[in-house]
Parts: sequence; structure tokens; C-alpha cells
Amino acid sequence: ILSKRLEMVANKIPQGSRLADIGSDHAYLPCFAFRKGIITSAIAGEVNEGPFQSAVEQVRKLNYQGDVSVRKGNGLQVIKTGEVDVITIAGMGGPLISNILEAGKEKLSEVNRLILQPNVAANKVRHWLVKNNWVLIGEEIIEEDGVIYEILVADRQGASPYSEENYQLEILLGPFLMKNRNKSFVKKWKNEVSEWKKIVKQFDRAKPTLEVLKKKQELLEKINEVEEV
Ligand code: SAM
Repeated sequence: ILSKRLEMVANKIPQGSRLADIGSDHAYLPCFAFRKGIITSAIAGEVNEGPFQSAVEQVRKLNYQGDVSVRKGNGLQVIKTGEVDVITIAGMGGPLISNILEAGKEKLSEVNRLILQPNVAANKVRHWLVKNNWVLIGEEIIEEDGVIYEILVADRQGASPYSEENYQLEILLGPFLMKNRNKSFVKKWKNEVSEWKKIVKQFDRAKPTLEVLKKKQELLEKINEVEEV
């Protein structure tokens, strides 16, 4: 049984794809997608020995050695250009996901979908996608065991979901997520706003230098914008 989070990632993989799951740990995601017949083959990439061994073990247990190839290496180094159609990167911070994509850019020329599940700072991933001409085509936000997760799906083609007027806010909150405003979305941003309000209070107690006042003002504006949504 897969976590709700990873199952949601798997559901975004187009039928018949060749997948690379980077930072695969136990290779649960590629093994699940293969068992369900969603993918025809997979590469499970891992940079660390422990998780790499877990993936090798899992693939051996299921007897998927011919179909799920476990490879050790940093980020997209484990794949050759043209070897996969879809890449999943889940369970890491947004900055790390963006760094992995940036460092392996040349491997993406024949990839047509990215499914990314940042644990924090999804805005960094959205920003990387825009800068590199990927089109965000869908987003999910879910809560599992008290933790809120975001899933971003990007393709090569499609209409941009961003507006000119609200671009910065849409990058922060997610253009699809802020339209739907589901329970998890509201909970996540209420929590964030209450953290920001604590920081505002700290600014109030600090010496009111120009820099402190400027930062406080910026934060107040951000609070206002997010509360409005
Ligand atoms: N993807 C799985 C999931 O979502 O449940 C595992 C997430 S686990 C928290 C993150 C994994 O990414 C770790 O096993 C770690 O070794 C691996 N990782 C971190 N940086 C990596 C990199 N640059 N290249 C490949 N794997 C990496």
C-alpha cells in the first residue's frame, strides 16, 4: 500500500510512460506504478547508499529487476537523454528539487512531463518551471498524517495559468490551488500567516531601523494579500 501522497503522484503519470523517479528511497513509487500497469519501465535514482540499497531490495523482492532499474547517482545523472518520458521528484524541499532540475537540464530535452512534490517552498519549483518554459498544468494539495503536501504537474505545452497582475502571489500560493482553496490549502496558509504575524511582533520589539521597518512592511503586505485570498 502506497501513501496517499505518492499515490496521487502516480495518478499524474500518463499511461504507458517510461518513468524516472529521482530520490526514490524504497522505490515504492516506481514499483507501484509498474504493478498498476501505468508505466512500461522505470529508473529509480538514489544518491545515498542506504536508500539505494532499500530500492534494490524492494525491486528484488517484487522480482521487477528487468523493468525497474535502480541506479546510484546524483539527481538526473542516472538517466540518459531520451531514456524516459516522465520524471517524478517527491519528498524533498523545493530548493533541492529546483537544483536537481537545473543541474540536469540537458537530460530533459525529451521528457514531456514533470511531477514534483516539494515538502516546502513550492514557490521555488514554480519559479524554476516558468524560467525554463515548463507549463504548470495542474496542482494538488493534500493532508496526510497531519502534514500538508503539494504536488505540481508540468508539461511542455499548454496555456500559462498565471496572470500578469497577480503573478507573485500565484507563484507563492499556486495558481490552481488558490482558485480551488480546499481545506488543506486554507489550513496551510492560515498557519503560515499566523507564523508571519509572530515575526511582525518580533519586529515591533526590535530596534526600529530602516531595514526592520522595511521588512515589517513587506511582511504586512504579504499577510494582507494572503489573507485576502
Ligand atoms: N521520493 C520518496 C518519497 O517521496 O517518499 C523518498 C523521499 S526521501 C525524504 C528523499 C530522498 O531523496 C532520500 O532518499 C535522499 O537520499 C534522496 N536524495 C536527496 N538528494 C538527492 C539527489 N541529489 N539525487 C538523488 N537522490 C537524492
